[in-house]
Amino acid sequence: MEEIKTVNLSSTTFDLFAGLESTDHEQILFCQDNATGLKAIIAIHNTVLGPGLGGTRMWSYAHEKDAIKDVLRLSRGMTYKASVAGLNLGGAKAVIIGDHKTQKSEALMRKFGRFVENLNGKYITAEDVGTTTRDMEYVAMETENVVGLPEIMGGGGDPSPVTAYGTYMGIKASAKKAYGNDSLSGKSVAVMGIGKVGWHLLEYLHKEGAKLYVADLNQDILQQATKEFGAIVVSSEDMITLDVDIFAPCALGGILNDHTIPQLKCQIIAGAANNQLEDETIHGNQIKDMGIVYAPDFVINSGGLINVYSEHNGYVREIAMSQTEKIYDTILQINHMAEDLGLNNQLAAIKHAEKRIHDMRLVHSTY
Ligand code: NAD
Repeated sequence: MEEIKTVNLSSTTFDLFAGLESTDHEQILFCQDNATGLKAIIAIHNTVLGPGLGGTRMWSYAHEKDAIKDVLRLSRGMTYKASVAGLNLGGAKAVIIGDHKTQKSEALMRKFGRFVENLNGKYITAEDVGTTTRDMEYVAMETENVVGLPEIMGGGGDPSPVTAYGTYMGIKASAKKAYGNDSLSGKSVAVMGIGKVGWHLLEYLHKEGAKLYVADLNQDILQQATKEFGAIVVSSEDMITLDVDIFAPCALGGILNDHTIPQLKCQIIAGAANNQLEDETIHGNQIKDMGIVYAPDFVINSGGLINVYSEHNGYVREIAMSQTEKIYDTILQINHMAEDLGLNNQLAAIKHAEKRIHDMRLVHSTY
């Protein structure tokens, strides 16, 4: 069996070209501008399937190498997400180094837009952590290669409701795998993180009659979830140990690690958070060995990407939703594939993504 390439960018020493080689990146663009204070990195991972699409994150990285590692890791994830979702898109991502609360300006975002424009469509940007649809409006003044625009500008608006729908589909498919049918009526579901995605997910789960547990740092949202959906509030720490059917992480990455996994009592892990497994191989295998059905994060949360992709072709919400519904079948397919290959679900999903890229390379090489 062909070996699956996982990468480890966590070492303290960091050699740029070795990093690019290990992650198999095509191109990195360092963007610097004294006048606006812009310092950004655009990483284009793979454009075999189409132009690289991925959001722009603005973050105060402690060290430059942290920004490089982040953009390499995130852009690679976008390649897999687009491939498994069946989109004609490659993977890319950008980071702007700086404090999004104090260092962002119209000029900085527009200058960044100029750099995106210079890539001639090889990279399409969107909003991400630390950037907003307003920022993308500035970027759009300098380039057409931007999505995630407000509805009034022909965009799809906030992708979170679509991401939540895809997550709901992924949870149902995982239930089908674990219990033989996909009904969530009477099933207990613990949702960690009641933000833009988590809230919409609760709506779907409540409508189907699931028993809900919620955790968040925001007390107001927890109270609202209790009032609207009869959800039971627990702390994030207690949520890990809850004896529930389904655990849906919808907050931060790295939630599945050496500390949390041994405490889990759920049968299914299926949530929207990115990069849930601290280590895709070690922790993915641990979860598999415990008999827990895991929905790979980049598959189950691909509704947001599907939504912005639809925007590029003239946005129609119904088309984005019906495309997102296919996450159900993809999750089932990956479960079967994992069983056949003896892999954990995350690695099976990577294999699935790589196969499509490999096959399409026969049609054309890069964008
Ligand atoms: P968000 O910022 O709106 O919500 C995150 C919520 O998690 C917040 O309410 C926050 O208070 C809560 N939170 C943070 N730390 C927590 C903790 N330790 N315990 C409990 N709750 C905690 O984000 P979102 O847009 O809803 O996205 C949620 C996750 O899904 C993120 O990992 C994001 O990367 C991923 N995702 C989102 C989309 C999308 O369309 N929004 C698409 C793909 C992936």
